[in-house]
Amino acid sequence: AKYVYDFTEGNRNLKDLLGGKGANLAEMTNLGLPVPPGFTITTEACRHYLAEGTLPAGLDEEIARHLSALEATMGRTLGQTDDPLLVSVRSGAKFSMPGMMETVLNIGLNDESVHGLAKQSGGNERFAWDSYRRLIQMFGKTVLGIDGDHFEHALDELKGDRQDTDLDAGELQSLVETYKGIVREQTGKEFPADPREQMRLAVMAVFDSWNAPRAILYRRQERIPADLGTAVNIVAMVFGNCGNDSGTGVAFTRDPGSGQQGVYGDYLQNAQGEDVVAGIRNTVPLQDLERLDKHCYDELLQIMETLENHYRDLCDIEFTIERGKLWMLQTRVGKRTAAAAFRIATQLVDQGLITLDEAVTRVTGDQLAQLMFPRFDGGAVKNRIAKGMNASPGAAVGKAVFSSERAVELAARGEDVILVRRETNPDDLAGMIAARGILTSRGGKTSHAAVVARGMGKTCVCGAEELEVSVGERRFTAPGGVVVSEGEVISIDGTTGEVFLGEVPVADSPVVEYFERGTSAGAGEETGEQQEASHDDNLVKAVDRIMRHADGVRRLRVRANADTPEDAARARRFGAEGIGLCRTEHMFLGERRQLVEDLVLASGDTERQAALDALEPLQKADFVGIFRAMEGRPVTVRLIDPPLHEFLPDLTDLSVKVALAEAGSGEASDKDRRLLAAVKRLHEQNPMLGLRGVRLGLVIPGLFAMQVRAIAQAAKEVPGARPEIMIPLVAAVQELEAVREEATAILAEVGVDALVGTMIETPRAAVTAGQVAEAAQFFSFGTNDLTQMMWGFSRDDVEAAFFSRYLELGIFGVSPFETLDRDGVGRLVRLATDEGRAVRSDLKVGICGEHGGDPDSVHFCHDAGLDYVSCSPFRIPVARLEAARAAL
Ligand code: PEP
Ligand code: MG
Repeated sequence: AKYVYDFTEGNRNLKDLLGGKGANLAEMTNLGLPVPPGFTITTEACRHYLAEGTLPAGLDEEIARHLSALEATMGRTLGQTDDPLLVSVRSGAKFSMPGMMETVLNIGLNDESVHGLAKQSGGNERFAWDSYRRLIQMFGKTVLGIDGDHFEHALDELKGDRQDTDLDAGELQSLVETYKGIVREQTGKEFPADPREQMRLAVMAVFDSWNAPRAILYRRQERIPADLGTAVNIVAMVFGNCGNDSGTGVAFTRDPGSGQQGVYGDYLQNAQGEDVVAGIRNTVPLQDLERLDKHCYDELLQIMETLENHYRDLCDIEFTIERGKLWMLQTRVGKRTAAAAFRIATQLVDQGLITLDEAVTRVTGDQLAQLMFPRFDGGAVKNRIAKGMNASPGAAVGKAVFSSERAVELAARGEDVILVRRETNPDDLAGMIAARGILTSRGGKTSHAAVVARGMGKTCVCGAEELEVSVGERRFTAPGGVVVSEGEVISIDGTTGEVFLGEVPVADSPVVEYFERGTSAGAGEETGEQQEASHDDNLVKAVDRIMRHADGVRRLRVRANADTPEDAARARRFGAEGIGLCRTEHMFLGERRQLVEDLVLASGDTERQAALDALEPLQKADFVGIFRAMEGRPVTVRLIDPPLHEFLPDLTDLSVKVALAEAGSGEASDKDRRLLAAVKRLHEQNPMLGLRGVRLGLVIPGLFAMQVRAIAQAAKEVPGARPEIMIPLVAAVQELEAVREEATAILAEVGVDALVGTMIETPRAAVTAGQVAEAAQFFSFGTNDLTQMMWGFSRDDVEAAFFSRYLELGIFGVSPFETLDRDGVGRLVRLATDEGRAVRSDLKVGICGEHGGDPDSVHFCHDAGLDYVSCSPFRIPVARLEAARAAL
């Protein structure tokens, strides 16, 4: 195998093998940009080393060959006494893992070559000794595993109140001696003077850093596979720390915050790269470089343009200037905010760099979703007191409370509260539900608070470690001695992780306002000259343009889960092409609960029919409203699903009431006693697996018939209505046949056409899909129940109970209730789709579980050949966009 690639041999498509940094250094080299020469050791070598504990056979020789070639190019040898070549040894994995792995600079220095470096740099002794002490410090820490504090303390002691640049050559030379002493003391060995040994040890240390705890944690959080390994880049050193005509900086080809074109970045004079990250001195804005070194500045701007045109995207760049000569140390397609992603994508289209198809692939549904959350009003004064992790987006304002009980209590009085905890646990669930937002001082993005909040769509900031939370004293302390006690108002931003004191006004998202205006309305013509247009206007135009194009390229249709005329109308405005799930059970709640009680308590056919007759006109009116809102688009109405006890009073409450009445007046009302008997009769240990869905329809005569008649009569009243009747929780075709027969008879009687189909939400229905399709005109996968039954996970309990632990353990990277589990549930979906269509070629197939609005699941549905996804109104734009991305 070939384990080492010269920069001239690689290119940007070899990220798997060369890592992101190596691949892009090669790309820049081949573009003729000023990259210091070097070579890359592949991720394959790393994988071998990590698996076997030894470098692969032949690697040493291969490195030696490439090093010789590098030495020939540079005209000096590694660590050469009178004029040393120095190299950096840099990590670089396929996916960027900022600061997670190791890098060692200045390899090749020792007690002799340090003098050569001084001579080579025109007698700059200070620079030479500074470089040497940096090598020992970095090498000691990363390669020899010495606690970095030892070096930091020694440096601080020497510096006193001065800056590091104030140390003179003599002082730095003494620091080198101190550092060597630290190495001797901590490892029992001398600092290795042999340059090649330094290099070899550094390479292995970089490989090892792939499995450093923080790297493992980062990968888990970012869902980066654990088995990729890192490449190692060996690069000829260039020095930003040899005087004021030198320096180092970072640059972006446009603003990663807004997408605006311009000059963005930071520069630090007389420094090496790690100084910028460490924040040792303050950087200056990149524009200042024009004044400091006009020549390099102009060249840098030229290179930035070259890179943007070449990568056809925003790039970020690390560079160094060594005595007036500019060097490129890294570039990559840069991260950006959601708003910038949309704006940059359309700007690049206008510049003729990418097509609209490509623009659609450059943005994501998650980014669009982020842009749809309410946010804090940009112009308002804010009093920021802390910053934690942005665990679940949105903006929330409320009184700080420190216990779940208190949250529930205040919320019941109609007050907005923010639940503040050190960390949350399943006991906090009630409080989390009651609160507008959740703030914790501990835990990461997979902590209990974060997982549960995201599941509920609730704003959450977690791990705000600057906060001292004292639950006992009902208060927290923020930096600067700010104390916030129970009842004081705070504001939290789940999109940025910021925490503010007091009330920050919340503004609607301009993107939601745009969707609310109705998809067909558009955002007006884009006029290039309108320089005045605000950021929001430009953003809305970019979103509009991308969404219009997305609708043209997607194959999947997008429907809504909606069960009121209002929701249906909103879904339409957001672009829904129909309703994929109208849950009829909500129509049994509220004031109608009484009618349901009558139905349950009915003794005999006459009483039951009377109860059903009372419900029917109400149901019909609901359907009329929904059919009207959907203006001739298909509406899938699902017949009632949940167990009847959900509509009745709580067993314990009612038992107490009856017992008290009997103890008091001696007699509970007849109605209450009958009700209690019914609640007891209907009580189930496991209601999710009990009397619900089609089972109810088969057990309570007339219930489904009433619903079907209401649907049919409503359809008759609304011209163009297209009802589809869907039977829930079917497990056997016989269940479906029984209900279908009754339904078709009613439809014929009223004189209305409607498809009759079924949900596929039990594993048995899925594996017998060929039989089920004989009796179903369409399938709609209820992946909430299908996931519940496939995994045996109670969908209402497990996420709060133990999913944070499962995520920590890596059993899955994301809850299977959030993102469709392709290997398990997905397999059933494919099987049922294929077997169903084999029997009935025009079988319409969709999905209406929560997964219908999840980006990854939408891609799965496209791949599996489904006809549509159905999701909540607010997710519809996300599904439209992701359906297009899946098709491209
Ligand atoms: C499902 O189970 O996925 C579904 C859509 O039905 P419900 O969530 O109402 O059980
Ligand atoms: Mg279901």
